Amino acid sequence: MMTTTPRIAVLGAGYTGVAAAKLLARRTGAEVTVVNNRDRFAERMRNHQLASGQKVRHLPLRELFDGTGVRLIIDRVARVDPERRRVELAGAEPVPYDLLVYALGSHADLDAVPGAAEHAYAVADAERAERLRDQVRTAGTIAVIGAGPTGLETATELAETHPDRTVRLVTSGALGEQLSERGREHLRRAVDRLGIQVWEHARVAKVDAGGVLLENGERVDADTVAWTAGFGVPDLAREAGLAVDARGRMLVDGTLRSQSHPDVYGIGDAAAAHTQGGHVLRMGCGPGNLAAACAYHAISARMAGRDPKPLRVRVDALCISLGRWDGVLQPVDLDGNPHGKVRTGRPVALIKKGVLGVTGWHALRHPALVAAGARQG
Ligand SMILES: Cc1cc2nc3c(=O)[nH]c(=O)nc-3n(C[C@H](O)[C@H](O)[C@H](O)COP(=O)(O)OP(=O)(O)OC[C@H]3O[C@@H](n4cnc5c(N)ncnc54)[C@H](O)[C@@H]3O)c2cc1C
Repeated sequence: MMTTTPRIAVLGAGYTGVAAAKLLARRTGAEVTVVNNRDRFAERMRNHQLASGQKVRHLPLRELFDGTGVRLIIDRVARVDPERRRVELAGAEPVPYDLLVYALGSHADLDAVPGAAEHAYAVADAERAERLRDQVRTAGTIAVIGAGPTGLETATELAETHPDRTVRLVTSGALGEQLSERGREHLRRAVDRLGIQVWEHARVAKVDAGGVLLENGERVDADTVAWTAGFGVPDLAREAGLAVDARGRMLVDGTLRSQSHPDVYGIGDAAAAHTQGGHVLRMGCGPGNLAAACAYHAISARMAGRDPKPLRVRVDALCISLGRWDGVLQPVDLDGNPHGKVRTGRPVALIKKGVLGVTGWHALRHPALVAAGARQG
């Protein structure tokens, strides 16, 4: 059992970092320091809306942490030093810690093919989404690369908001392969209704100023390319010598604790959490919030000398908006396969609005909701 007040450093103030930091500060009495490279909480799950020109609120982080006792440092994490138990920052003094919560999220994988870093735009962070929005203002044709949930949301949102533009969707697989047959049919109808041109089984080899070149030699011309095919994670965990998987996600056990360093926890997109049965938690806000709550429960249990219970996930679902008035809600199993009844249409659009409202507002302001939803021990 710990006898002194521990210093907990939380790296990253995205969806999971904010929730974990507030829970730990309010309920463990620990000294909690959060480091984030932006001073605002950008609602990342609305970046496709931002890219299509809609207003998206950016909450000041100071306001979110007001009255919680959390110390906030706006700076870039440059290095994690697990031997000396400190975090080195680009500008400010290093932050010492007894426990570290690593929640640095993910970014667009623009190194995936030549030319993407120079020519493609993205929605993975607010700054890039804003650049995409500015670019789309003058573009006649936009190619969205990738038809995972983010690509589908981006293509449909752009097509609905800008009916006078041509939107092209390029995917290496089949359209809607993550959905059940009914879900796929609904998606196809939505895409047709919005006039989106689809390239399936088309792998991009290169991005250039005029669009993309496919591996089969075909070109898909576009004034603007939006890259949503794949997310990378920061290299800091790997560079620090923490156990990571092939993608650089921190390997954590069922209590979200690093498999190599017991005083480090990893949550959200930047960590590969294993659930019961060895399933890896997918990147996503829902799974990330469960992980944040589980890490909080595990840390507070260990501080109290109790054994924490491991993460248990029973259900998962993809809730994908298809513009403002349509959507698909697909329950999936822990391997990501469609499972159970798919829901579609306007009710799903309303559910998605509710989900965004809860995650972007209530969960951040009242993370007790997140913790209650994932009571682990
Ligand atoms: C357009 C879009 C739509 C999405 N829709 C959904 C959805 O409907 N459902 C769903 O479940 N998921 C969705 N996601 C995924 C979801 O946004 C992520 O899974 C979620 O943001 C992960 O939370 P996180 O806390 O791990 O990381 P983030 O929310 O990305 O937070 C990471 C934080 O770390 C900061 N940071 C990074 N590097 C450093 C550094 N070196 N120093 C300091 N700070 C740093 C970042 O600025 C950020 O504030 C969507 C993503 C996108 C892009």
